[in-house]
Amino acid sequence: MLFENSIVGPIHSRRLGSSLGVNLLPLKHKYCSYDCIYCECGWNKESEAQEKVFATPQELRELLQRRLEQLKKDNAQVDSFTFAGNGEPTLYPQFPEMVDMVIEMRDRYYPDAVTTLLTNATQLKHKAIFDAVQRLDNPVLKLDAGTERMRQLINKNNDMGCTWDELLSNLIAFGKKGIIQTLLFDGRSDGVTVSNIIPEEFNPYLEHLKKIRPRYVMLYALDRATPEKDLRKLNVEELERYAQMIRREGIEVKVYG
Ligand code: SF4
Repeated sequence: MLFENSIVGPIHSRRLGSSLGVNLLPLKHKYCSYDCIYCECGWNKESEAQEKVFATPQELRELLQRRLEQLKKDNAQVDSFTFAGNGEPTLYPQFPEMVDMVIEMRDRYYPDAVTTLLTNATQLKHKAIFDAVQRLDNPVLKLDAGTERMRQLINKNNDMGCTWDELLSNLIAFGKKGIIQTLLFDGRSDGVTVSNIIPEEFNPYLEHLKKIRPRYVMLYALDRATPEKDLRKLNVEELERYAQMIRREGIEVKVYG
């Protein structure tokens, strides 16, 4: 399912409250440096035939401003300005400029709201992106695997992405400023086990968290239909069991079942 607008909501989010989505990516085309087997936007190739048109920074500014003026008139609540949408937001060509624009709009219209980014963290390899992401209140950085092999099976990193070593070193450099998000599940894809809860994956994943020392970890389960069908959703008790293992290392965890 692709977002059909550049400004979405506000919608109620389990994690963020009343969240106003800012989708920088093309409206009919998923654009991502990963192709996760659980991605709610479907496989990359499913939308490749669609036109890939980015809104300009000026268009996005005007759309956001118009929406905010309406929301203020309606006395609507906004808790978070959230970069999310049809793929990886940091691939937008002028991403750093958009971060500054959204912070400016937040300050002007909803100064108590936070700025949030949901990202797969692959573009932290670019210094300008790394620095821009640091300016946000809630940088939520994806880490779904303990090993390079499993990252490839789960996330299918492509040419726009980054190496496993780059990913880990950038997450470590981010440290306490970042929130790690991990979707835990169990399953099979193309006849191969694809799971981040087996000990061969979860143990090295835990070791990485000990080096990253994030602000906290968000653990969550599958929520909507996934392109790969043979995946099992974990229940809250199972998520809590893994959360406890992380907490034992002195790292805070929030569970979203
Ligand atoms: S990183 Fe996000 S948008 Fe990209 S494929 Fe994975 S779930 Fe989909």
